[in-house]
Amino acid sequence: MIPEEFINEIQAKTDIVELIASYIPLKRMGRNFKTLCPFHNEKTPSFFVSPQKQIFHCFGCGEGGGVIQFVMLYEKVTFPEAVEILAKKLGLEIPYQKADKNKILLYEAVAEASNFFHKTLLENKEAKEALKYLSKRNIDMDIIKKFQIGYSLGKNTLLDYLRKKGFSIDTLEKASLVIPQKDGYRDLFCARIMFPIFDVRGRVLAFGARLLADDISGAPKYINSFEGPLYSKREHLFGLNFSKDDILKNDCVIVVEGYLDMITPFAYGIRNIVASLGTALTLEQIRLIKRYTLNVILLFDSDSAGQNATGRAIDLLLENELNVGIVTLPAGYDPDALIRSKGKEYFFKILEQKKDFFDYKLNILKNTHDIDSITGKTSIANSMLSTIYKLKSEIQRYEYVRKLADVLKIKEEVLIAEARKLNFNNLHSKESIESYSLNINQPLTFTEKIILKFMFTNKKALLIAKKNLREDDFSVPLVRKTVSYFFNTHFEDEFFSSPTKFLGLIQDKEISRLIVKILMEDIPLDKELFKSSILKLLKNRTKNFKEKLKEEIKSAEKTGDKSRLKFLIEQYDKVTSELKNE
Ligand SMILES: [Zn+2]
Repeated sequence: MIPEEFINEIQAKTDIVELIASYIPLKRMGRNFKTLCPFHNEKTPSFFVSPQKQIFHCFGCGEGGGVIQFVMLYEKVTFPEAVEILAKKLGLEIPYQKADKNKILLYEAVAEASNFFHKTLLENKEAKEALKYLSKRNIDMDIIKKFQIGYSLGKNTLLDYLRKKGFSIDTLEKASLVIPQKDGYRDLFCARIMFPIFDVRGRVLAFGARLLADDISGAPKYINSFEGPLYSKREHLFGLNFSKDDILKNDCVIVVEGYLDMITPFAYGIRNIVASLGTALTLEQIRLIKRYTLNVILLFDSDSAGQNATGRAIDLLLENELNVGIVTLPAGYDPDALIRSKGKEYFFKILEQKKDFFDYKLNILKNTHDIDSITGKTSIANSMLSTIYKLKSEIQRYEYVRKLADVLKIKEEVLIAEARKLNFNNLHSKESIESYSLNINQPLTFTEKIILKFMFTNKKALLIAKKNLREDDFSVPLVRKTVSYFFNTHFEDEFFSSPTKFLGLIQDKEISRLIVKILMEDIPLDKELFKSSILKLLKNRTKNFKEKLKEEIKSAEKTGDKSRLKFLIEQYDKVTSELKNE
């Protein structure tokens, strides 16, 4: 945790105009500065910087925030990383709190371990076989050094080494380097080739470890560090720290499964590549990818496990508005084996033959269903529609439905009706539906804007809103999320005197964008308007309740439930007279 006061200090000492001008040219326009937006393509400037409010806002794409948010967006880094960058510019050092000191110790322990493994591989006689194995796989010294590949001897060599360096057993256990046994602790990794797993910034977090020989005792070929305070596997992509620049440059990322599937093509010069660390892609990993590109090529094994992983990844990628290409590898090959046996040119050729999700999925379905039978056709249609409806763009959806209609020889209206019936629109996983509906560009009502502006600038108003309203009184999901955050967080008084201070506290990008949007607009701070806005939302609530009662009355009439009907009608009359009295 970075202390709040420090974030405030960073924000106070960094001038937003100076900061942004150090990245892109700014032109003065009245009280503000403007320029072409660096976050979307445009010909006339709609990106504004306000020196008074110390915020930026793009009227084109809706991006906005304070100094921290600008660095996050421009440098594609996380909130704490942005604070660190700004601190560096100011020549300040972050006064980490105690929890962080422990974390720093973990980073140090894992880094020391990585050096130890690497040195062992290069210098220890017992690691000779490991070096031979790597060179047989065309992994040369440059790559070994770049990826800091190492070797673990086990036998508590690491434990003894790190204890001598002064690390506590507790630290080593939390860093997943040792495991407790009945009679003390022992090294977790033994006689394995060690692949350090780095974060985007190049810090070692964990290890993937491969058994050298195909094992006699039935030990698994690969083991990984356990998840802990440093490492959670769903949040990282193996190799991204090495490949991110090339991913940006190529505007495309190739995703494979295993360590060597990433390293070997990289060694052959295919540098825009990452590994998913053995899982189907997770939402966190997709967010990471989205920082660098929207174009993803999946290169998973063509066995059925690989196919399942690919299927899940496709749906999640489409839901998150990425473009997917899928490459099917020849049976029996993984990317590592393929490039070693067939060479780089062949690998590129395979990449060029990538299919879009539609053709890929249809192909698999055709292999398992009889497209000419009615049941086969139905299953294929349903399965294809479920993926097509993951697309956010109506146009794309329509185009693919048309394509499907063509293939299945079914009218497209029938398919659309079927999709509607199956309610695919609501099938988005909970994770993505949220980010989908939190669109900053969704129009807010004036009523909602007034209430938000008051909540951001006046503590009393926030308390009044909290007492009278519920988050579901608001119609736009992003507003609901923001209101819920403000209702459930305690803020010191000082925040309300300068609402941009919220931007140093709220790490949620969507909420801070909404705050900036509200602050940038000329919304009157009129107390009467505030009161009437709250009343209006309360009235809406009652109206909605009335509508709901109406529905329930209808269904009670259908089922003939007389006592319930009586109760509902009483309620209905009460609500109706309440609405009239206002
Ligand atoms: Zn923009």
